Amino acid sequence: MQNPVSPSSHTSNLLRDPRLRNKSKSLNFRLLLLTLCGLTSSLAIATPTAHANRLETFVYDLTDSKIEFSLKNDIEPKGTVISNPTRIVIDLPGIVYQGPTVRRRVGRGVQAVRVGQVDANTTRMVVEFSPEVTLNPQDLRLKSRQPGRWTMQLPQNIAAIDLNSITSFALPVTGAISSGFGWRVHPITGERKLHKGVDFAAPTGTPIFAAADGVVTYSGWTDDGYGNVVELRHDNGVLTLYAHTNKVYVSKGQVVNKGQAIAEVGTTGRSTGPHLHFEVQPDGRTAVDPMDYLQLRQVTLDLASNSFKD
Ligand SMILES: [Zn+2]
Repeated sequence: MQNPVSPSSHTSNLLRDPRLRNKSKSLNFRLLLLTLCGLTSSLAIATPTAHANRLETFVYDLTDSKIEFSLKNDIEPKGTVISNPTRIVIDLPGIVYQGPTVRRRVGRGVQAVRVGQVDANTTRMVVEFSPEVTLNPQDLRLKSRQPGRWTMQLPQNIAAIDLNSITSFALPVTGAISSGFGWRVHPITGERKLHKGVDFAAPTGTPIFAAADGVVTYSGWTDDGYGNVVELRHDNGVLTLYAHTNKVYVSKGQVVNKGQAIAEVGTTGRSTGPHLHFEVQPDGRTAVDPMDYLQLRQVTLDLASNSFKD
């Protein structure tokens, strides 16, 4: 079953007025031509250039229970609500997103957000909900207050489900997630391998904080590709691991508090640039998706920048 998401009555009359709609279509057409010109010139000089039409960021904000995205151009997104399982699909005609589908686990209410390309000329964003969530398409509005910036308010109870299910781990660093937990092709070796943590892109020197109270069980260099590592043991034997750090601030046996700076972001070991690789091992051995343990306030997919990972 598919239900179109109605555009907002007061903020995007542009989408409703048939005269303006035509104007909007011709605008899309002109923008497409611009993109094609851009492509041709980038091929001619054989360097990757920024594309005229682009999805820049896609954010799910748990605090305000809304999704936000920004486009380089003012095109008309097409929103649909699909059931079984419940999801919101937003298509961006004329927006070319080059790259593999990006999917981020979120939590229980909103389970994941993903961005990919459905065909040569359309980028698709999907918000995947828990089966327990039902959405009324009439309640959903895509609003644009300024060109290229769109928001959609979700029912508040959805974020409440997520915020209440969150365990006590604090976010270990300020930075956008550049690679999630799961199977992937390794950015350096090219092998298909389980990525056992979450990568946060941040400049070298950015402080890394203990996710929870604990004791340092390892601090220093490792030869396994993780570079300089801090490992903490928490209650019930749960381990957290902080890899590729530039400098460690703590030593083995030291007691640390949640939120205490334990190291700084770097790119030591097998890494393509400065970032934190963060792992959670609930039984002290097996890594699981850290997103199940983190206090997230928002999930940002930064699609315009080339983020570092490993
Ligand atoms: Zn990593």
